[in-house]
Amino acid sequence: MDSFSVGSLRVHRVEEWRGEFLTPELLFAGFDADRYAETRDAVAPAYLDHRTDAIQARIQSWVIDTGDRVILFDTGCGNHKVRPGIPVFANLETDFLGRLAATGYAPDDIDIVVCSHLHVDHVGWNTMRDGAEWVPTFARARYVFPAPDVEYWDPQNRHKFPNMIGEAVNAGFYDDSVRPVLAAGLADIVSGSVEIAEGIRLDPNPGHTPGCQTMTISSRGETAMFVGDVLHHPLQILNPDWNSIFCEDAEQARAARRHVLARAADETAILVPAHFAGDHAVRIERRRGGFTQIPAFT
Ligand SMILES: [Zn+2]
Repeated sequence: MDSFSVGSLRVHRVEEWRGEFLTPELLFAGFDADRYAETRDAVAPAYLDHRTDAIQARIQSWVIDTGDRVILFDTGCGNHKVRPGIPVFANLETDFLGRLAATGYAPDDIDIVVCSHLHVDHVGWNTMRDGAEWVPTFARARYVFPAPDVEYWDPQNRHKFPNMIGEAVNAGFYDDSVRPVLAAGLADIVSGSVEIAEGIRLDPNPGHTPGCQTMTISSRGETAMFVGDVLHHPLQILNPDWNSIFCEDAEQARAARRHVLARAADETAILVPAHFAGDHAVRIERRRGGFTQIPAFT
């Protein structure tokens, strides 16, 4: 589903990249072969190639149009970025801005950019190359960054965080995709829960990174939750204790995942993780002491 409504709010998906990304055994820190054998058939082939075990993934952004404000949630990998730690996302030349335009929005139509967290695949289109410089892509927008990640990922603070997991894979993003936004004075650095527009709230859900924030949008009794990388794949709905190998704090990441799954189930919310292939958005039901996914739209 590439466009849907949440009450009076319109939501549009803008895809940057699609492909296969590792296998469950390689992606999940808590991988358990027996649990995988028990749960894999419940995951549709659109999310998991059942012959090769390849995870089907997307890099995608979401536009939320309130009629009054236009919000862009997550900004992918970006073009022309130097990424020695993750070559699959290096030097991309995608038509992301063309796809955004086809959805109906030019960069200057974006009022608020939200990064769910600061990682290489969530900040890329914050900036574009202009000669030797990186300049903000969304020059009219306020960029909402979570304070803990602004500190954590700044290479100048590296000495404060000796147990950092994601340094190598994320090399480069802060200086080309975050610092130029800070320097331009376009960043709002937030802590705690904050309402960024009517019916649109950010809440801290740390673990994957210290600053992970989820966005809940509500209108006329309907709710959708954009949860970034709190979960990467439907297998984590069935196995919520499985972290990705990219999660900074294992215990917090598991707690955040259980929390958002429980909230989505209790509030009958549409759940929108960052990297889901398939339908890209799901709903959650409690089943046999755990969780299962059901279609978001009937
Ligand atoms: Zn991600």
